[in-house]
Amino acid sequence: MFKRSSKVNKFRNFALLLVFAGIVIMYLALLFRAHPFIMTLFMCIGFIAVLLSSGVYLWVGLLSTKIVPVVCPNCSKPTKVLGRVDLCMHCNEPLTVDPDLEGKEFDKKYNRASYKSEEPKDHSQ
Ligand SMILES: [Zn+2]
Repeated sequence: MFKRSSKVNKFRNFALLLVFAGIVIMYLALLFRAHPFIMTLFMCIGFIAVLLSSGVYLWVGLLSTKIVPVVCPNCSKPTKVLGRVDLCMHCNEPLTVDPDLEGKEFDKKYNRASYKSEEPKDHSQ
């Protein structure tokens, strides 16, 4: 899961990992039945991990509304682009929805809010 993959896949993997981590931690809690304090602590951590993963899933769901569906030019499969630049879900081809960035090297910085496009924004109208 640490290799380059599209953001949606990354978040889903992370959420899945959290669910498993939470279940394992809650299972470990049962091993400490003789120590109620440790058991409660582990239970809480496990519960928080599961809650966090639900939060990530919800967040991914909300982000999905901003996802641009495109057909990958490299493998001709439909994929989803999240943010200004993202990788194809199938072949990891870098894709962009911003014409300004077309042909440029894939760079994560284009997704940062601090990255400003050269185009001037006119709010006077
Ligand atoms: Zn592709």
